[in-house]
Amino acid sequence: MLNDLKSDCKNCFALCCVALPFGKSHDFPFSKEGGIPCRHLCSNNMCAIHDQLKGKGFNGCVTYECFGAGQHVSQTIYSGKDWRKDSQHAEEMFAVFPIVQQLHEMLWYLKQALTLKETQPLHDHLQQTYHDTVKLTKKHPKEILELDIMGHRSIVNGLLTKTSQWYRKDFMNKNKRIMETNDLIEESLVGSDLKGEDFRGKLLIAADLSNSDLRKADFIGADLRDAKLYGADLTGALFLTQSQINSAKGDSRTKIPSYIEKPGHWR
Ligand code: SF4
Repeated sequence: MLNDLKSDCKNCFALCCVALPFGKSHDFPFSKEGGIPCRHLCSNNMCAIHDQLKGKGFNGCVTYECFGAGQHVSQTIYSGKDWRKDSQHAEEMFAVFPIVQQLHEMLWYLKQALTLKETQPLHDHLQQTYHDTVKLTKKHPKEILELDIMGHRSIVNGLLTKTSQWYRKDFMNKNKRIMETNDLIEESLVGSDLKGEDFRGKLLIAADLSNSDLRKADFIGADLRDAKLYGADLTGALFLTQSQINSAKGDSRTKIPSYIEKPGHWR
């Protein structure tokens, strides 16, 4: 369903490993400035430690998702010209990539919203906004650099908020504690009825959601790093991304939406 908005590293010039900065933290073992290739990046654009990322402390790489922006910038916007061979455009390409990544992320959410029968009354508006967003990704690099990305994000966010309200309307405002706080770090919510709950933007770092009912819950922008999802049911969860799931812990009993793949590191 959402495969065309998924990273395809073979057709990308490793833009995330070059263009983006990262800082020494729980997610990265050292710091790097934007525009500088990571020291583990090989000349064929592959990662030398791809199979050992988690063990070596590169959690940020495991959880990163470009939503297909990498291949779009590499192959379409810059017509397959590698930044290594086109130093004139390298800096511009590195600046364009994070903007297109944001647009592709919006497209991913909009596309999911369009698959929901509960949001039928919004489909015309969603479809129009999807097309408007696609058009932005097709602009000339110089125009992309001048986009009012915050303004466009706010239009998309308004629509996604309405989508969420329609989708979860039978279950809204059940849990006062969750409604009233953004900070659910290390919270124990084991075995809770959280069906249709609104977790948008909430910090669920290391929260224990094991054996909870999370069906139809909205996870847009939620931080699920190290959240425990053992035995939890996330069937029909809304706006849950592969990178969020990759950052969480789960097992063979965890039920995830069909558009998400079970991470290899889950037990
Ligand atoms: S560790 Fe590998 S995946 Fe992460 S930034 Fe470096 S080259 Fe890329």
